[in-house]
This record gives sequence, C-alpha cells and structure tokens, in this order.
Amino acid sequence: MSEPTGTPVTNLLPTALPQVSLFALGGTIASVPQTSPDEGSAAVGVRPAVSGRELVDAVPLIAQVARVETTQVLQVPSVEITPGDLLALVELMRDAVDSGADGIVVTQGTDTLEESAFMVDLLWDRPQPVIFTAAMRTPSSPGADGPANLLAAVQLAVTPEARDLGVLVCLGDAVHAARHVRKAHSSNPAAFESPGLGPIGWVTEGRPRIALRPVRGGAPLRVIAGTDLPNVALVRIGLGDDGQLLQAVGSLDVQGLVVEGVGGGHVPRALAPVLSRLVEQMPVLLASRTGAGEVLTQTYGYPGGEIDLRARGLLGTGAYDGTKARLLLVLALAAGLDRPALDRLLTL
Ligand code: ASP
Repeated sequence: MSEPTGTPVTNLLPTALPQVSLFALGGTIASVPQTSPDEGSAAVGVRPAVSGRELVDAVPLIAQVARVETTQVLQVPSVEITPGDLLALVELMRDAVDSGADGIVVTQGTDTLEESAFMVDLLWDRPQPVIFTAAMRTPSSPGADGPANLLAAVQLAVTPEARDLGVLVCLGDAVHAARHVRKAHSSNPAAFESPGLGPIGWVTEGRPRIALRPVRGGAPLRVIAGTDLPNVALVRIGLGDDGQLLQAVGSLDVQGLVVEGVGGGHVPRALAPVLSRLVEQMPVLLASRTGAGEVLTQTYGYPGGEIDLRARGLLGTGAYDGTKARLLLVLALAAGLDRPALDRLLTL
C-alpha cells in the first residue's frame, strides 16, 4: 500500500489552484489492521501503512482546494519520530516552499504531534503556513476523523491569514498554535487542547478563520539537518521522590535536564542540593507538572521552592511544559545559545 519513501507524487490538476506540499510520517491517520505481527512483537493490531498520496486521494474534495504534492517521509507510530528526523523534515519543507508551495501539511501520529509541531515551529523561518494534522481513529473505524482533518488542514494551508503564524495544528475543525497545544486525552476524538488559551481559530464549512494571532517568541533557531543533537533528560517529580533518578542523571550521557516540579515549580527539599550539583554540570530547567500556567518566580521561599531553585541556578521554563522545554533545550544547545539567550527564549 505504501509508496517508496522520499518520492514526491503530484496529482494532475489545473495549475490555477494553490499548491500544497504534504509530508506524511505515519500515525493512526494512516493505520490499517495487521494480518500478522511485526517482527519483534507478539501483538496484532493496527499499524501505519497507508501512503500520504492514498490519504489525499481518498478525499476527493481536496482536489478542489489545492494541488497536493505528497512525500512519504516516514511510515511510523509517532513515538518513533526523532528530533533528527524533524531537522530533515524542515529542510524538505523549506525546499518545497522555495520551489513554489503555498503551504505545508504534515500528517503524523497524535501521540507526539505536540512535540513535532513545536520543534518545527522553533525552526520554521518562512511565512508560508505549516499545518500539522492527524487522526484519533483509523481510516476503517466508525467515525474516522482523518479525512475531515486532512481536508481542513489543506484548506488552512492555503489561507493567506495563516501566513506568518508559525506552525499550526488542525484537528476537529479547531486551529491551535503549536506553542500551546497538547494532547490531553488518550482516545477521545477531541483530544487536543491549548490549556489556558483555547484554539486560535477554526474551520467552518470549509472556511478557515483565524481569530487570534499567536506571539512567536524570538527569531527562529538555526540548526541544520544532520547536526548531532544533545541528549536532554526530563524528570517529573512526585510525592516522596528521594532523588535517586535525579542523582543518576549526573552520570549519564546527558547534556541538559528539565525538572518538572510540582505546582508552581517545587521539589522536596532533599532534592535541592542534588539539583545544585547538576547545575554545575549542565543547564537545568525548572518546569511545572501542572500542565497550564507559568512556573513561578517569586512566591515560595522554602528549600526546594522556586525562589530557592532559581538561586541555585535553575532556569524557569515560563509557560512551557517539561515536554516542550526539553525540545527547546535540545535545539538551544545545538544552536550554541548562551544562558541569557536561552532565558529569553523561554519567555513567550
Ligand atoms: N499511536 C498513534 C501514533 O501516535 C496514535 C495516533 O496517531 O493517533 O502514531
């Protein structure tokens, strides 16, 4: 069912239509039931197999909106996508718009979509819209959401109002900014939210509307494809954490750390000296595990509170959660940013 990876395939349509380049990475939107288990797995379930070209051709209305060229970049569950894959994807996207594409659509799995979209957003340095979309249900499930999501994503990708907004995420007719969106439900078709903000727009009867324009913090980062990317650990803190995991980070091949503290950014007092030692080895960021709101800066003064941790050299991640802050630190280290520049980047 799949076409060979890396080969662009274009439908034959009038040239007056806008041009969209679609990059397909796999995920549920492209998944079909297996007849036998994959190598190394005992399970038979669904797995990505439908090509990007087949996804587009299965929605005839798309051909009335745009000429869509498809490139099969990967055919994987989204947890297999790597930051290196995304650097390579951004190069392909740049080539596409520099050769005339009016907009970009990326299809992938929902599990890590918020990460891919955010990382690409940090790097995207062109005005053309980039729309990530996906599906919570496979093409053969009752109520499959992939076809409608794909159509809406293409409609959004050719919308002039979507230019200069960075990367957008379009599912369930809602339009989210990549910086804020997250998957907030494991199975519900309405799984995507932008906590504290909501979507920035919507698609109704095929008409995309942008109601709010997101603030993009700072200039796009410059990290070229093929760059050796650092390892950044993400450690979530919980009740009674005794610091063993954090201590182990110091002896791993890790160049940065994000600590997702409780509440406004707090850890048990016993962990504070461990973090002080880690700060001497690598940049350590402090995020909140709450999932919305900012890391605090000047409220709690007890050991392990945010004032204490900042004094020990941790940098707050502002409104970025640990998952996004981890990718931001990967790119910031790869781009060679110094501490003040990193601090500015963490301010939305
Ligand atoms: N497990 C799938 C993936 O992320 C889920 C999805 O696509 O919705 O690849």
